[in-house]
Amino acid sequence: MLFTVEDNKLVFSPQEGQPISYQSTYTFYPINDTYPFSKKLQEELSQQKLLLTELSVPFDTLYAHYREGYVQIIKGINKKNDRYQCNRCGNTVLQKFGAFPCYTCKEMCFYCRVCIGMGRISMCTPLFVWSGPIYKKKERSAFLTWNGKLSEMQQKGAEAIKETIRRKGELLVWAVCGAGKTEMLFEGINYALSQGENVLIATPRADVVRELKPRIAQAFPYSSVIALYGGSEDKGKSGTITISTTHQMLRYEKAFDVVIVDEVDAFPFSYDKMLQQAVENVKKQSCATILLTATPNHQWQREIRRGRRDAFVLPARYHRREIPVPHMVWCGNWKKQLLKNELPWNLKRWLKERREKQVFLFVPSIEVIPKIVEIIKKEEKRTEGVHAEDHDREKKVLRFRNGETRILVTTTILERGVTVPNTDVAVLGAEEDIFTESALVQIGGRVGRSANYPNGDVTFFHFGRTREMVRARKQIVSLNEKARKMGLVE
Ligand SMILES: [Zn+2]
Ligand SMILES: [Zn+2]
Repeated sequence: MLFTVEDNKLVFSPQEGQPISYQSTYTFYPINDTYPFSKKLQEELSQQKLLLTELSVPFDTLYAHYREGYVQIIKGINKKNDRYQCNRCGNTVLQKFGAFPCYTCKEMCFYCRVCIGMGRISMCTPLFVWSGPIYKKKERSAFLTWNGKLSEMQQKGAEAIKETIRRKGELLVWAVCGAGKTEMLFEGINYALSQGENVLIATPRADVVRELKPRIAQAFPYSSVIALYGGSEDKGKSGTITISTTHQMLRYEKAFDVVIVDEVDAFPFSYDKMLQQAVENVKKQSCATILLTATPNHQWQREIRRGRRDAFVLPARYHRREIPVPHMVWCGNWKKQLLKNELPWNLKRWLKERREKQVFLFVPSIEVIPKIVEIIKKEEKRTEGVHAEDHDREKKVLRFRNGETRILVTTTILERGVTVPNTDVAVLGAEEDIFTESALVQIGGRVGRSANYPNGDVTFFHFGRTREMVRARKQIVSLNEKARKMGLVE
C-alpha cells in the first residue's frame, strides 16, 4: 500500500506513492462528528490494531473513515536511527526482527518475528487503529448459570478473586494441579460482567484456549465468549469474555477491565518481561489482574512466604487426597542403552508392573521418541509417541483418552491440560535441562487427579539427580504438609 503526504497527511496513492516506512512525519484528520460511521467497523476495530487483511470491510470504506478522522493509519514498525519497534506487539529487541528482500520497499525490509503468528508485519505494512468513539457491548444483568459446588477452600479463593476484581488489584493464585481453579474464577468474572466490564483470559497454549471456551461459554450462556488462537474462527469478532493465547492477545490495546493470565510459569512463556509488557498493554488504565499458577517460580514463592505479594494458596486437590510424591530412581546411562536398542532394566520392570494401567512416559526430546516407542512396542503394541509438532497430535491424544493406547511416550508439551484418570507417570532422563522444577511438578500433577483414582505413581528415572528434581519433590512434599496443617486432606 503506497502513500504520498499532502498537507501533512497521508494520502493513498497507488501510482505515485511510496511505502509508509518512507514517510517521516504526518498528522491525522480531525474527527467529523456528523459523519455516519460504520458500527460494524467500530466494533471490529475498537481497541485493536489490525492489518488490512484482517478487516472485513472493503478498503474504500476504511479509507473514507480515515478521511473523516475515525481511523488512523500508523506504521507497522517504527525505525529510529538503528532501533526498531513493532507497533503491534511492542517488540524492540533487534534480534527478534527478521529481514527479507521486499517487493513493496524494493530493498531489505524488516519484519517482527514476535507477532508473526498474527500475520507478517513489516516496515511497509500499515496498521489501522480506530480513533472514533469506543465500541461498548451492551450486556447487563446476571450471567452465571454454573451451579456446581465449590469446596470450602475454593470458595475462599473465589471470594479473594472477586474482591481483587472489585478493587482492581492484583492477585497471584497458587493452586496445585487438580485444585479446580477455573471454577474459582466464575464469581469474579460474573461480578465484572455485571459491571459491564470486559474480561480477558490469556493462556500460553492453544489447547487450553480450545478446552476453556466451551466450559466458559456454558457457565455464561448470555455473554459473548470468543476464543483466539492461530486458526481460530473467532478472529475479528469481539466478545465480553475473550479467551486468547498470549500470542493473539498482542493485538489488543487498553481493551480489558479484567485480565486473567493462566499458567504464568508455563513453557514457552514464563512470565518474562515480554509477556509482562504485553499484559500491561492490553489492560485499561484501571484493571484487575489475576495470575494463576500451579508452580510459581522461586522468587514468587519467596515473595509469598514473606508476605510481599498478594496471593491465595490452595495446596490441596478438590478430592482431599495428598498429591503423590515422586520417586527418584537412578537408571544409568539411558542414552547409551537406547543405542543398543534397550531401555534401562528398572524402567522396563516399572512398565511391566503396570499392565492394568495407562502410562505417560515423558522423555526429554522429540528425537528419542521413535526409538523408545519401537522398543516398548515389542512388549506392548498399544504404544504411541506424540510431540508438540506432531500433525496427528490431537488424534493420538484422543486415542489415549479413549484407552485405545496404553502407553504414551511424549515430550513435555502434554504436561499441562491433558488429564486422563488412573494413569501412572514416568520421566526418563529427568536430569535433562528441559525438566525444570516447574515442569516436573506439572508432570507429577498428571497423576491422581480424579476422585475415583486419587493415587498413582510418579517416578523420575535419571542419570544423576539434579537440583530441579530435588526442588520439585520438595515443593510437593511441602504443599502436602501445608494441606495437612490446614485440614484440607484426609
Ligand atoms: Zn510485533
Ligand atoms: Zn517492505
